[in-house]
Amino acid sequence: MPLSEGVLAELERIVGAENLASDDATRYVYGADASIHHHPPDAVVRPGSTAEVSEVLRLCERELVPVTTRGAGTGLSGNAVPVRGGIVLEMMRMNRILSVRVEDLYCELEPGVVFSALNRALEPHGYWFPPAPGSGDVCTVGGMIANSASGIRTVKYGATRDLVLGLEVVLADGTVLEVGNRGLKNASGYQLEKLFVGSEGTLGVITRARLRILPRPRSSGSLIASFRSLEAAGAAISQIYRNRLMPSALEIMDRNCIQAVKRKFGTPLPDAEALIIVEMDGDRRVVEDDLRAAGEISRAAGASDVDFATDPARTARIWESRKQVLPSMASSGERGPVSLADDLGMPVSRVPEVLRTFAEIARRNGVVIGAYGHAGEGNIHCKVLIDTKSKRDWEGARRATDEIYGEVLRAGGTVSAEHGIGYSRGRLFRAERGASIGVMRRIKAALDPKGILNPGKLFDAPDDMLSDNRYITGECD
Ligand SMILES: Cc1cc2nc3c(=O)[nH]c(=O)nc-3n(C[C@H](O)[C@H](O)[C@H](O)COP(=O)(O)OP(=O)(O)OC[C@H]3O[C@@H](n4cnc5c(N)ncnc54)[C@H](O)[C@@H]3O)c2cc1C
Repeated sequence: MPLSEGVLAELERIVGAENLASDDATRYVYGADASIHHHPPDAVVRPGSTAEVSEVLRLCERELVPVTTRGAGTGLSGNAVPVRGGIVLEMMRMNRILSVRVEDLYCELEPGVVFSALNRALEPHGYWFPPAPGSGDVCTVGGMIANSASGIRTVKYGATRDLVLGLEVVLADGTVLEVGNRGLKNASGYQLEKLFVGSEGTLGVITRARLRILPRPRSSGSLIASFRSLEAAGAAISQIYRNRLMPSALEIMDRNCIQAVKRKFGTPLPDAEALIIVEMDGDRRVVEDDLRAAGEISRAAGASDVDFATDPARTARIWESRKQVLPSMASSGERGPVSLADDLGMPVSRVPEVLRTFAEIARRNGVVIGAYGHAGEGNIHCKVLIDTKSKRDWEGARRATDEIYGEVLRAGGTVSAEHGIGYSRGRLFRAERGASIGVMRRIKAALDPKGILNPGKLFDAPDDMLSDNRYITGECD
């Protein structure tokens, strides 16, 4: 139901006319994130303070208006798509870094701060906030907390969830709540700050965060090794851990990704089945020794090419191919990559065997799958490449995705390691979490009894992962 004139007038009074929009163009744009889903909100509201967020939520709860909180809208599972209409609460205006307290090892900031802006502010102190999502130049800290985001450095430094010390949160009824504390440790009852990590905007709106920060490593270097089989790459990863080496990043690319990068960018990569990129950080001598050891391990596991570098220019070249994966797949002729099976988590040692089955699944269902990601944490991203105008391709993608997730759950994994459940993975999430879904529903009912916060997501997301698919226009084959 569209918002009444009265509600629009109230929203305008709270945030000001310049921070409220309900024109068609704005509603269209804010109906999408980086997922396949689309549903327009009735209005977009851009609060500038906790007090404004509180007033907006009080109003929306009273009037039963759905509220979908949004950071930068880079979520890949429809997390910030307002599937029940209502308002999108866009948090980008609340983007101040409030303090950097190196002596206390934390910083305090508003949720609209962009990940890379935070790290630019920490750099002069010699500190950083390490989880490094691929979207780090645009995604917000609020979105990272709400999605439980992580990235290439999580293998050594932990995910966002490990680094949240405290939050200010506005609940659905407008109550402003402080959770966590200002110290590094806290054994004082339920760890409520963690409850909001991964809650995807369904329990409250994060308006302030205290995050653990860490000293930047003194130096780093990287190694790239290519293999004739996925199993050999997997053996190298296992041996790296068995030899007590702790990379600060450990990534993998499969054959389809390697070929796409070569085709699109002409990057001189070997004709391999898999390649791994390993980063070590710390004191220069340790980095060099560890890279050399990882190189020997890779060769012993069957690597055909091994190269490593510690100077910034050559290190950047090693990482180039990994950064080129997504853009190269996005321009693979008629087929485009869609985010359906994009965020699989599994025990590290199961990665090669599970990736091997993906190739068979792809063949069976007439789609192409490119797999890459954070192999050192057992977190693999899979892009299914299809002709997005073809309904047949979408059906193939759906079947392939189902089979992929089946494999992952059989391997003891998760259907989302870092992107969240959103609107895409409801059925799979329910299958994975079983009885704990009931507990989550009770928590949701306690904190948001009228169900206004990001309705239709997580456990309430639909069975059909292709719901509200923005690609299917009715003109498909
Ligand atoms: C190219 C690309 C690469 C990516 N790489 C990674 C990666 O390496 N690792 C990774 O983890 N993710 C990755 N992502 C996914 C996504 O960028 C992250 O999950 C990111 O943290 C989302 O942040 P955002 O600001 O865009 O949040 P949005 O997409 O706007 O929102 C995400 C969720 O958070 C909620 N939310 C946002 N702000 C708040 C708030 N203040 N209070 C309460 N809830 C809030 C929203 O309601 C929504 O449910 C990638 C995405 C893209 C497009």
